[in-house]
Amino acid sequence: MIRLIKGFHDILPEDTPKWDFLVRTAKATLEAFGYREIVPPIMERTELFARGIGELTDIVEKEMYTFEDKGGETLSLRPEATAGILRAVVEHALLRQDPILKLYAIGPMFRRERPSKGRFRQFFQVDAEVLGDDSPQTDAETILAAYCIMENIGAQGLMMEINSVGCPVCRATYREVLRNYLEPHLSVLCDDCRRRYERNPLRVLDCKVDRCVEIAAKAPLISNRLDESCREHFDAVKRSLELVGVPFREEPRMVRGLDYYTRTAFEIVHEELGRSKAVGGGGRYDNLIKELGGPEVSGIGFAIGLERLSMGIPDDDPRFARSIDVYVAPVGDNALNACFTVVNALRRAGLSCEARYTAKSLKSHMRAADRCGAQRVIMIGEDELARNEATVRDMTTKEQTPVKMDELVNFLLGEKR
Ligand code: AMP
Repeated sequence: MIRLIKGFHDILPEDTPKWDFLVRTAKATLEAFGYREIVPPIMERTELFARGIGELTDIVEKEMYTFEDKGGETLSLRPEATAGILRAVVEHALLRQDPILKLYAIGPMFRRERPSKGRFRQFFQVDAEVLGDDSPQTDAETILAAYCIMENIGAQGLMMEINSVGCPVCRATYREVLRNYLEPHLSVLCDDCRRRYERNPLRVLDCKVDRCVEIAAKAPLISNRLDESCREHFDAVKRSLELVGVPFREEPRMVRGLDYYTRTAFEIVHEELGRSKAVGGGGRYDNLIKELGGPEVSGIGFAIGLERLSMGIPDDDPRFARSIDVYVAPVGDNALNACFTVVNALRRAGLSCEARYTAKSLKSHMRAADRCGAQRVIMIGEDELARNEATVRDMTTKEQTPVKMDELVNFLLGEKR
């Protein structure tokens, strides 16, 4: 047998109702906030991610699925959605039609990480971006949109953590402060962090290796080094979050994994998920669009991981139970044609229906109806055929009603719960 690729996963039919609920809720929430959907491809030129995410990030250095295609181009499966969305925005000059763009995308991302609970190599993200508006209200509204997706889904035990990582000016000052702090600890840091120290010391704060986490925990805070306008912006974001009642916690050590963030950064964490506790995260990126060849326009966005979100919701929630309107049971071969006609007439009238043409006994039909979660069963046997009727059984009340064949569709449409 050929097996699934390590770190990839199937979403089985029993899981798709829950999955579909997550996707539909995320879409409806984002559309209520004025976002429109965009569907970029799952593969782009590698260069886009190197430039958009940052050459020195773990994602670009170690985790991308990159290959040379037969034409000699180097391509990568997308590890995140923002770079591809921004590429599309710049390429189609979408900001010229609409100076403030609110876009979302939903689909699979690929990172060759070490698989563990809640950490996959293919995982789905809901990704939202607002371009062209650098007001603190927009930051707060973006955070609220992420929060509302979780709230509408009914996820429990989540916490919003926020920070400001400053602008390139205050970050340059902070980088030096951080280097000075890290220097005496260099021999203890992991190999990756020693490299990060040279080229991008902020990455050390994001390292998951225990001894680096310990050192990072005592590092000076970027929040103490913000310049006046970054500080004012952050204060205004917090005030706006309070106005709309989003509970949050300041997390002065959060820097997020990607290079492009400026000012507001946030994560939604789930304590029970341990190390992979972030369900979603995002932040402002005021220089990225220009970096990708576009105009000097600010942006802010977030991504929520659907697998992690799904882990917080019980599988046996009755909302995800299998259900169809009608199961049609032919009792005896003589009823086959009548049943075949009825089931397909009901489907064309818009009811969800199932029938088993090979089941023989009424008992096996009833078992099949239960498996499908049928609300009603239509039984047609010799007696019914003789009277040109069907027997409709309500599976909740167990009540049985004889209905004339040509009245079946209207009867069931009228009764549809
Ligand atoms: P990031 O793009 O790294 O900020 O991740 C945003 C969200 O995507 C995270 O909070 C997770 O919910 C999800 N995510 C990121 N990486 C993975 C992964 N390897 N497996 C599953 N979900 C992931």
